[in-house]
Amino acid sequence: MKKKMISMMLCAVMTAAMVAGCGSKEAEPNEAPAAGSDVEEDAEAPAETGAPAEETEGEGEAEVSEGGTLVMATNAYFEPYEYYEGDQIVGIDAEMAAAVAEKLGMELQIEDMEFDSIIPAINSGKADIGVAGMTVTEDRLVNVNFSNPYTTATQVIIVQEGSEIAGNDDLEGKIIGVQLGTTGDIFAEDVTDATIERYNKGMDAVQALSNGIIDAVIIDNEPAKQFVSKAEGLKILDEEFVTEEYAIAIAKDNEGLLEKVNTALEELTADGTIQSIIDKYITAE
Ligand code: GLN
Repeated sequence: MKKKMISMMLCAVMTAAMVAGCGSKEAEPNEAPAAGSDVEEDAEAPAETGAPAEETEGEGEAEVSEGGTLVMATNAYFEPYEYYEGDQIVGIDAEMAAAVAEKLGMELQIEDMEFDSIIPAINSGKADIGVAGMTVTEDRLVNVNFSNPYTTATQVIIVQEGSEIAGNDDLEGKIIGVQLGTTGDIFAEDVTDATIERYNKGMDAVQALSNGIIDAVIIDNEPAKQFVSKAEGLKILDEEFVTEEYAIAIAKDNEGLLEKVNTALEELTADGTIQSIIDKYITAE
């Protein structure tokens, strides 16, 4: 499985914005390529007041636009972490990233793109951070750094209410829908004789499940709850795959920013900000 994961992620990186690579069938071409706001030059936000911490650091400055714009790459179809409310992208990740940006004295700019374009966007400098309910995996760590984790999640299986699939073992030989390039995609690869249908958006996979085109969807637990609540006749199986950790992805050569983000996260955890953002979007059952 490890080898598969590595080759998959390498493939994802090598093909960069060419989403159609890596054996995907369902994915459409990128409709929303990484917007090219250049962070280094984007100095329209004047040096904000109250941004003292950064000035003391001597190295890595070129990579961090002090007092400027912090560009966050995401895929905004992943409620409750990132989703549209009107033309605004809201959610746990959006609010947390805004709080981090504020700590850095920067203004947050969110760029919506396909999930598997996020790491290439970070590595090409189109974005500073990737915040997208993104799970820390060994393979992604080959290509980007991750901040300290800010929450945990699990992969779950969604099926039609009358489905004969009652647990992970019943997925054998079935048609499984996933979001392209996600950990759900990686887990589906491990299911014996399964056919994997890859979609750019998790909701598209859920739609296909509703329409009986596929047998199951493997996806993160909180978005799964949202999707199921908006569809008829679907349920989430009790059995979960492994627990995962979400963190903020940052380019390998941007250690200065990584340090600052981690410090901001520590402060926002200590003062309860992160928990209150999570509680705002996820109500305990
Ligand atoms: N947590 C999953 C991953 O990192 C899915 C993230 C997403 O679809 N936004 O692969």
